[in-house]
Amino acid sequence: MNPGNKSGFFVLYKNKGDLSMSVSNNGNLKLAIQKKGRLTEKSIELIKLCGVEIDNYSERLVVPAYNFPLEILFLRDDDIPEYVQDGVADIGIVGENVLVAKNAQTRIVEKLGFGKCSLMMAAPENISIKSVKDIEGKTIATSFPRIVQNYLTENKINAKIIEISGSVEIAPALGVADIICDIVSTGNTLMMNKLKKSISVFESQAVLISSASRELNPQKKKYLDELHRRIKSVLTAKNSRYLMMNVPKSSLEKIEKVIPSIKSPTILPLADEKLVAVHAVIPSGYLWKIVDSLKSLGATGILLLPIENMIP
Ligand code: ATP
Ligand code: MG
Repeated sequence: MNPGNKSGFFVLYKNKGDLSMSVSNNGNLKLAIQKKGRLTEKSIELIKLCGVEIDNYSERLVVPAYNFPLEILFLRDDDIPEYVQDGVADIGIVGENVLVAKNAQTRIVEKLGFGKCSLMMAAPENISIKSVKDIEGKTIATSFPRIVQNYLTENKINAKIIEISGSVEIAPALGVADIICDIVSTGNTLMMNKLKKSISVFESQAVLISSASRELNPQKKKYLDELHRRIKSVLTAKNSRYLMMNVPKSSLEKIEKVIPSIKSPTILPLADEKLVAVHAVIPSGYLWKIVDSLKSLGATGILLLPIENMIP
């Protein structure tokens, strides 16, 4: 693999043509991520966990990696699906909600498990939305008209959609719409606007995408396969923990039954011959379900460690 170009460059751009001109055609894989927003930090973290080293990225549009043939393009998330579709970037990381909203010709390579959010219907207190049927005939304000329309069509509901680009939650108070459909996290914004959340319309998370209409050249395909392999190992590791503990030899058989180990646990001898050390990979969060059983079987010195990478 060619090492990435270390120099990097800073370019201002106004449209896609300008951006294409500024991205070097050096055969490196081009990954588009959100420039500044909720997905930025987690996207960078994922790349770094894949062992890809990149420079301080804050000020630049294009940042090359040092040790992988990859260049990272920092863009507004709304632009990422189209840039990937058109091949300005080879791959991108974006929320599924934006992907569906933009309807670009892209395909999901991998769901990444972060940036999770729900697009939900929310209504003022005088309107009760208990099931999808209650939406019939209503006017819905949203920034995601395509997703809402897909949902209405799937459920054979007739309703009017009003597209609003921001502060959707004030639409009912202004008399512009009966209800809204928006991304909800804590629900604080809804509460302040006297709205209550009801039906979930779409569940979203960050995804890695590639173009559905363009084939990558064989070299770039090789780079993508390698990056994808690393991403999958990072994701598996994220969902697992490394458990270590000392247990009495006499309860070993019972303890082995309690641990849902991916492979059989590692058993190591200790200076005290009545004890052994047990190491095992378990799913994240699982320790709390089994900790009481482990203790009652005499386990001591229980340690749980994060795993950075897991190669199948
Ligand atoms: P940009 O300037 O890049 O257009 P933005 O303001 O459109 O940014 P952000 O608010 O940074 O976007 O959200 C990016 C993505 O993060 C969303 O499209 C969504 O997929 C995801 N997300 C996760 N949780 C939330 C949340 N609570 N509210 C909004 N988006 C969320
Ligand atoms: Mg956006």
